[in-house]
Amino acid sequence: MKTDVSTAGTSPAPGEAGGQLTVDLGALAANWRELKRRAAPARCSAVVKADGYGLGLTPVAMALAKAGCETFFVALLEEARRLRAALPAATIYVLDGLMPGTAPEFRNLRVEPVLGSRAEIDEWDAFARDRGELLPAAIHIDTGMERLGLSTDEARARAERLPLLHFKPSLVMSHFACADEPAHPLNAKQIAAFRELAALFPGTPASLANSAGLLAHPASHFDLVRPGISIYGGRAVIGQENPMQPVVRLDLRILQVRHAVKGASIGYGATRTFSRDSRLAICAAGYADGIFRAVGSSDQRNGAELIVAGRRCPLAGRVSMDLIAVDVTEVPDVKRGDFATLLGDGIGVDEFAAHAGTIGYETLTNLGRRYTRVYVGG
Ligand SMILES: *Cc1c(COP(=O)(O)O)cnc(C)c1O
Repeated sequence: MKTDVSTAGTSPAPGEAGGQLTVDLGALAANWRELKRRAAPARCSAVVKADGYGLGLTPVAMALAKAGCETFFVALLEEARRLRAALPAATIYVLDGLMPGTAPEFRNLRVEPVLGSRAEIDEWDAFARDRGELLPAAIHIDTGMERLGLSTDEARARAERLPLLHFKPSLVMSHFACADEPAHPLNAKQIAAFRELAALFPGTPASLANSAGLLAHPASHFDLVRPGISIYGGRAVIGQENPMQPVVRLDLRILQVRHAVKGASIGYGATRTFSRDSRLAICAAGYADGIFRAVGSSDQRNGAELIVAGRRCPLAGRVSMDLIAVDVTEVPDVKRGDFATLLGDGIGVDEFAAHAGTIGYETLTNLGRRYTRVYVGG
């Protein structure tokens, strides 16, 4: 596999950075192809909002396009602008929809808003009418999330006036609230409600499934699926084995190895006291780099683990802004300049997230900007 050090953006030089974040674009593409296979005959898009779930919008989107992906979802217009620069021919939807006055820029970029309220539909419709162009856009219907989307009644009212619209609905969509919990009763309700509402827009492709819907609810596939987290290797469905390959690896630089005598304590708050003479590897990353403070340890509670020279080692004490300590008492031959693996070699984003009481999504989207970023397998 060819290694390609990215010099784009502000990625620091490998010898100077507190860690190296490696994104496996081969695994990413393989995950997408596997999702596409499971979704067929529905088409498979890719959700690349929040900078491609923190992994880098442009390299992620280009790898997915190369794998055959043609439709992408971002959250904001600025993300769509960056994506359009990388992919001139892709279909791009903006999930947060149409902010007031932004219709001309959507048209300039050939990007489609996901219209989620009457006001947005009216603004887009008036813009299309004034331009005399049948501009495409998605219509978002709420079926139980109560976040964005037309109410059921509003959707019915719009559907009755379809011939009067001046724009072209290119997609009718809704979003699951609880697809990660397969037995939740809201899933079946949302699927049934959406089936009925989508039928009011004949000839318009329908889309409901996120990653969890794709993996756990075949009845939710409709015409287009919208996976995000599964592409990036994260777990979408609670209580099921995650069939996706890991995509991210994070190795932290060891700044120094030091000895602590039995009875000494470490870090802010002196939360962890050593019950034996110990050896510590001090690593150059902290909560400013996405290592949540909640993964630290104390005498009462174990924290996250890292892998040093092939062995799992516990994080010792609190997480500082730019530093963590790892207990390497059991590992011979650790030295200054080596690496400790926070993600990779069997430690996934979800294991790390669980120590902080959060989810893989939040781990990925908080990965720091101070690491050297390396893209492999592209
Ligand atoms: C983020 C998002 C997705 C993707 O969700 P995953 O759980 O990451 O697969 C799909 N649809 C909408 C509307 C979203 O906001």
